[in-house]
Amino acid sequence: MTTTPQPTRTSPYQSYVYAYPHKTAYRRLPDRPRLSALWAAEPKNALSLYLHIPFCEVRCGFCNLFTRIGAPDGLTGAYLDALERQATAVRQALGETDEVRFATAAFGGGTPTFLTAPELERLCDLAERRMGADLSAVPLSVEASPATATADRLAVLADRGATRLSLGVQSFVDSEARAAVRPQRRADVEAALARVRDARIPVLNIDLIYGIDGQTEDTWRHSLDAALAWRPEELYLYPLYVRPLTGLDRRRPGRPDPAWDEQRLRLYRAGRDHLLAHGYTQQSMRMFRRADAPPQGADDYACQTDGMIGLGCGARSYTAGLHYSFDYAVDMHEIRTIIDDYVSRPAADFAHAEYGRRIDADEARRRHLLQSLLQAEGLRLDDYRARFGSTPADDFGAELERFADRGWLTDGDPTTLTLTPEGLAHSDAIGPELFSPAVRAAMTAYERK
Ligand code: SF4
Repeated sequence: MTTTPQPTRTSPYQSYVYAYPHKTAYRRLPDRPRLSALWAAEPKNALSLYLHIPFCEVRCGFCNLFTRIGAPDGLTGAYLDALERQATAVRQALGETDEVRFATAAFGGGTPTFLTAPELERLCDLAERRMGADLSAVPLSVEASPATATADRLAVLADRGATRLSLGVQSFVDSEARAAVRPQRRADVEAALARVRDARIPVLNIDLIYGIDGQTEDTWRHSLDAALAWRPEELYLYPLYVRPLTGLDRRRPGRPDPAWDEQRLRLYRAGRDHLLAHGYTQQSMRMFRRADAPPQGADDYACQTDGMIGLGCGARSYTAGLHYSFDYAVDMHEIRTIIDDYVSRPAADFAHAEYGRRIDADEARRRHLLQSLLQAEGLRLDDYRARFGSTPADDFGAELERFADRGWLTDGDPTTLTLTPEGLAHSDAIGPELFSPAVRAAMTAYERK
């Protein structure tokens, strides 16, 4: 087992590890493996389905997700046509058997509610009729922006079984929203929240960001209280990042900034303590759930488990041995080219995986450790041993010793490996330290576009 060299930077904000390996470690797969072969031996009775809609009304300054601004006439329809061709090809590759069952579904992006209400109906039809997902019976999570969370779209989503609506608010202070390059007015955000509650989707999630220029503990608490007034079942608190090629990168290029790190840590702690004092429990560094919220089944649908089918040109799919997707970019021109290429593809193209990364036994262990350790409930040692026949200490002794030396691991519980509150606060430093040397090298060599 190779150990990971310690990075030289010590910032708590190195990167958000929501999926491992990151797409910048994917490469073109020269053999273009057939999906039918990739999925032949995989368990298919509890898959996750993810549909990616790569359109937004604006490009937020902090965002490096795969999405474009607006859609020229006809593009969303052409995109749904392509999604339908892809869904048909993928479902054929999975096999037309009863064994295929989806346990969760999610529409993400981008902004899925960029689509009109009839287009959202079509998206749901596609998930149900082409893929065989029963949206009325499984958790269905949908992301939305305030401006696109209109009553007609929300009615479609509620009617088709959406159980969770996640609204990207970021800040209730108009000047902070502008500073994060997500211009929106608080009055419009409040109106959107009222529409979401009227639609009676069981779980409302609100995303907020800390570390924005000009944000203080007072304004941060003001945003938290404005969110709490809606009693959201979930809240995600995100530290602001300046990522390469994003809008903020052009205004404030990312570079080490200890004062900013300190501001973000201070706001993180203030936000965490505020939510804990208001009846929320902490699920991870970013995620808080209202203690009396209805259970939702699988958390963190985005990329947390094996057995995921992603449809759309920004979506990833996971088998146990391969993670794959389409080409990836952040630059708007490149994204447009990739989307145009996606919508022009014939059905036969969708029967193959084109970009991806193989997951060997070492990467599977790292992935399991990352996924579990960064959750507040930690890693169950018996699960790890049952899966790999070893302990995390056997496989990652040097890394875990470093984390323990920094006070980031609890001790005393022989059944779980759990982060301390300070460890959770440093999740974005812990994650990257667990990347394999090969993934780290591939991410470094990736040519950003
Ligand atoms: S943060 Fe969300 S709404 Fe903003 S550009 Fe990214 S995907 Fe679109």
